[in-house]
Parts: sequence; structure tokens; C-alpha cells
Amino acid sequence: MKQILLIKNGEIALKGLNRTTFESILIKNIRRRLKPLGDFKIERAQSTIYVEPLSDGFDMEEAVNRIKKIFGIAAFHRAWAVEKDYAAIEAAAQECFSDILEDASSFKVEAKRADKRFPMDSPAICRELGGALLARYPHLRVDVHQPEVTVTVEVRERAAYLHAGSITGAGGMPVGGSGKVLLLLSGGIDSPVAGYMMAKRGLEVGGIHFAAPPYTSDRALQKVETLGEKMSEYCGRIPFFCVPFTKLQEAIRDHCPEEYFTIIMRRMMMRIASQIAARDRFGALVTGESVGQVASQTLQALCCTDAVCDLPVFRPVIGMDKSEIVSIARRIDTYETSILPYEDCCTVFTPRHPKTRPQLAAVEAAEAAFDFAPLIQRAVEDTAWKLLVSE
Ligand code: ATP
Ligand code: MG
Repeated sequence: MKQILLIKNGEIALKGLNRTTFESILIKNIRRRLKPLGDFKIERAQSTIYVEPLSDGFDMEEAVNRIKKIFGIAAFHRAWAVEKDYAAIEAAAQECFSDILEDASSFKVEAKRADKRFPMDSPAICRELGGALLARYPHLRVDVHQPEVTVTVEVRERAAYLHAGSITGAGGMPVGGSGKVLLLLSGGIDSPVAGYMMAKRGLEVGGIHFAAPPYTSDRALQKVETLGEKMSEYCGRIPFFCVPFTKLQEAIRDHCPEEYFTIIMRRMMMRIASQIAARDRFGALVTGESVGQVASQTLQALCCTDAVCDLPVFRPVIGMDKSEIVSIARRIDTYETSILPYEDCCTVFTPRHPKTRPQLAAVEAAEAAFDFAPLIQRAVEDTAWKLLVSE
């Protein structure tokens, strides 16, 4: 018997007139993620998307893993496709759900008859199949309000589909069509989570990383790229910018007071990210900052960083504890990569006593000691670009 996937979209259903646009984006995303697994066909009807494998080698387990990571899906089912004949439906239900029904104490049958030519109506299907399953599994009780197992029969154009039990989807909105944001991606725990959260709301995410060779190594950069690839399972392909940041950091070290190193460095990052964002039409910047986490993330420090940005800066983890961020990082499988102990440019030239409550005027005065503009320009021009994607 053949299995197919029945996908129920989530919040998209609320989108009124835009619904078909969002659905088309979701289908495109599903196609892209499942393509490496073999041939399949996608159809949609009444806010359900049907994915039917066509090639023999199609790896259903892997398809399920991938679908779980696509935003815009509330829940989905692995369903059995059965001939549209009541006897066949009953036999299939007895066979396919024996494990589930043996372990359950209550159940109900739900039927949806989209093909009105099918001779039994929905209540009749429920009655017949419910009775047959009760006879076969006498320990079961029918509970129409809170059943442990719901056996669903959908009679459609080409076949009847049977499923019992649904798989929770990633929720959110399908990525694409809502604009794109540029994430400052370090090798740490917080920024991949921040990117994941923005993608969940349907935004495309690009990554920008500041590298300071030889103070930071190739391995450190590789780690960031690995993080981007892992994120792409949720976010889709990630355009990735790598900024050569060494000269700027050295200039800050040579010309600015030590207590302002970090805050000035962060302002330089934001200036460069803003220019690249404006050039490539990103609508906002995103960081993994959380209030009070470190000296550069106090309220005053965040204000000093924002002061150099024209675009909005989104900080989706701003109010989260580290432990909350870590639990998301574990769930999306970026945590183990993030904790690899490679250096980041933020840990180069760190001041012994950073200003925790920097005043904007003082920071601007400290910066004025040197003309950073040519170095900023140079860093933007020399920024490398590539696409990060997990196949
Ligand atoms: P993360 O916040 O990702 O766990 P972290 O905690 O080591 O890394 P912080 O010093 O807290 O980094 O930096 C705050 C934010 O600044 C990061 O979340 C990230 O958005 C940005 N950032 C820091 N370092 C870099 C870098 N080298 N390249 C790009 N963005 C960076
Ligand atoms: Mg952090």
C-alpha cells in the first residue's frame, strides 16, 4: 500500500485573499526540500496539500524529517492511499492501525467524502468502520469528544486516504514573499536562534559575518558556515556575506580608548551591515542580542549601536534567558556546532573594563579620533559572498 503526506497549512488559512499566494510559496518550499529524495507529485485542495511519491526509492522517513522543518505547516499526516471501495478501506484500516489501536483505550472515526459519487455518505462510513474496528478491538471504547486515536478516512477524487495521528509541523509562515532581513551571524548560540525566529515569521534571512584573520581562523569561519547550512533547513538558502574586519579592529585598538573597544566595534559592524543591507535590499538587520547578557548588551550600549543604523534592528531573543535560547538551539540542532571552541572577532582585543553604560556623546567623541570611513568602505567592497544551503 502506498503512503502519501497530507499537509495542513497553519496560519496561512487566515490570510484571506493572499492565501493562494502564501500556499504557492509553501508548495515551492516543499518542492525544493523534497526534490533530492526522488520524484513526487504535489496537489492542493481545500487548505490541504497532498504529496504523493512517484519513485520507488522515495525516502518517506527523510521526507517527514524535512517537512517538519518547513515553516507554514501546522500539522501533517502520513496517510495510506487505498482503492475507493468500502471493503478495501475497512481492510486497510484494520491492517494499518493495528499497533495504534491495540495501545489505545478510546477512538473515533472521522470521514470526509469529497467525492460525492462514493456510495456511502460520511456518517455511514463512520458507523460501518467504527463498528468493524470495535468488533476487532473489543477493548476500545468510542469517545467522540476526546478520543485517544482518531481514524480519519478522506474519500477524494483518485483514492481514499486513511490516517490516524498527526505530526506537529514547524508552524509560522512560509519563508519568502514577505521580505528579507540580514542577520549578524557570529559563531555563538544566540544568532542562529535569532535567524530561525525571523524565518518562522516568513522572512528570508541572509547572514553577515565579521572575520578577523589571522586573529580568527579558517576553522572559525567554517563553523559559521556550518551553522548557516543547518539553519537553511528551516530558513531556505542563505545568502552569506563574510566581511574582512581585521583592519578596522586594529584601527580601533590603535586609536580608541580601551573601555570603548567593544561598543565601537559593534557600531562598525552595524555600519557595514547597514550598507550591505541597503545595497542588496534587505529590509532590516537582526542580531542575537539579549538585554544584559554582556557589557555591549545593556540598554545604554544597545542605544549606542542603534544610533548608527537607519534600518530597523530586530532582536528576537532580546527578552529571553540564555537557557531558553539554548533549548531552541538544541531543538534546531545548531547548539553542538555553536559550542565548538573557536575564537570570534568579538573576543579579539576585548577590553579589561568595558563601559557598561556608555553615553552616546562619549562614544562619538572616542570614535572621532580617527577617520574610519575609508576602512569601512574598503571592508564593504572586499566582502565575499556565497550561498549556504543544506542539500
Ligand atoms: P551569539 O550571540 O550568536 O551566541 P555571542 O554571544 O558570542 O554569539 P555576542 O558577543 O553576544 O555574541 O554578540 C551579540 C550579537 O552580535 C550576536 O548575536 C550577533 O548577532 C552579533 N555578532 C557578534 N559577533 C559577530 C561576528 N563576528 N559576526 C557577525 N555578527 C556578530
Ligand atoms: Mg550572545
